[in-house]
Amino acid sequence: MAKSSDNTGKKKGGKKIRVDFRSNRTARRRITDVTSEATAEDDLEIDSVRSEQVVARGDLSRRRTITVYDDQAELPLGMEEGVVVAVRGLYADIHHGSQLISCTIRRVLRTRMTEERHPITVGDRVYFRKEGDAEGLELGGVIESVRVRKGQLRRKVGRRVQTIVANVDQAIVVASAKQPSLKSHLIDRYIVATLAGSITPIVCVNKVDLDTLGEYKEAIALYRRLGYETLATSVVTGEGIDALKAILKEKQSAIAGQSGVGKSSLLNAVQPGLKLRTGDIIVALDKGRHTTSTAILIPLDMGGYVVDTPGIRAFDLSTVPRQEFETFFVEFGPYVPDCKFSDCTHTHEHQCCVKEAVESGSIDPSRYESYVRIFEDSTA
Ligand code: GDP
Ligand code: ZN
Repeated sequence: MAKSSDNTGKKKGGKKIRVDFRSNRTARRRITDVTSEATAEDDLEIDSVRSEQVVARGDLSRRRTITVYDDQAELPLGMEEGVVVAVRGLYADIHHGSQLISCTIRRVLRTRMTEERHPITVGDRVYFRKEGDAEGLELGGVIESVRVRKGQLRRKVGRRVQTIVANVDQAIVVASAKQPSLKSHLIDRYIVATLAGSITPIVCVNKVDLDTLGEYKEAIALYRRLGYETLATSVVTGEGIDALKAILKEKQSAIAGQSGVGKSSLLNAVQPGLKLRTGDIIVALDKGRHTTSTAILIPLDMGGYVVDTPGIRAFDLSTVPRQEFETFFVEFGPYVPDCKFSDCTHTHEHQCCVKEAVESGSIDPSRYESYVRIFEDSTA
């Protein structure tokens, strides 16, 4: 039975779930002791892992009760809520109000059993207790728990999947009208990677000042027809910058796109002085210490965060099984069930209704081409 975790009366609105002990901890324990060993310390934990693994019967007793807070839950007494903007080993920098607080991560939280290498990642919403500032210099804290994650950017490291950033609301997929030329194949790749992480893509075509014939409008119309929010911007004329600001405000956004399309310039237009992909930001956030973060969040003055992933490809598709790609091409949906073969990949098969829809003009050929390229490139 689940033990009550509410021995302090401080928690309200949390939902108790059971999670696994990490095996290296349980190895030292006798299984019969475990229920009574679900100590107050363990009970304080809040976990983002909702799904329970299927376990052998004997393993069930190795589980402990933890509490998950959803969005409606009241904050436990004495705890503050913040957002992880950078991670360094067992430390994390938390953005809270206008402060940046360097926190350690609770031991039990560290040993949480997940597929993850690290229990806390950039973008996590965490509860923490403030500690110290003894010399009035630096405020510290301890991260007690993590909230359930929503959209995430992940990558494969060897055989493991690593979450680079959690709780990403949206990804601004930036292309440029000219210099470099608009490549719908790349837009589609980023859209697929974004959707695979349960993140909403927003298509932004930048440098429209260079496209005097307005050729970019065709691409905008295509993505709009597919149901995606779109933006046409120019850092030179200022077109679309206010719309971009409105989109970024109060949200946690990733920015994707080929090098040179103007991602940094756009963010600089939104918030002058904000530089993406430079060491400066990390140093500023980190007060000069070395950082091991694979990503950082940059707080925006108007509220919200922008994700930066220096030096790593956050939008690769290696975590997506190839048979799932069709689901990220929203316009294929109505045709897929009518393909002759139930496992039709819509590439070489006969009597493929997706291909027929391309021929009849119901599906845009460039989208279909993107699908085939993504499918054939895939190794998953
Ligand atoms: P990033 O690699 O995507 O971050 O691209 P940058 O922001 O570094 O921009 C690449 C180049 O494009 C720079 O020389 C910018 O000045 C230029 N650029 C960016 N936005 C625009 C724009 O809207 N119009 C024009 N004409 N040039 C732009
Ligand atoms: Zn098919």
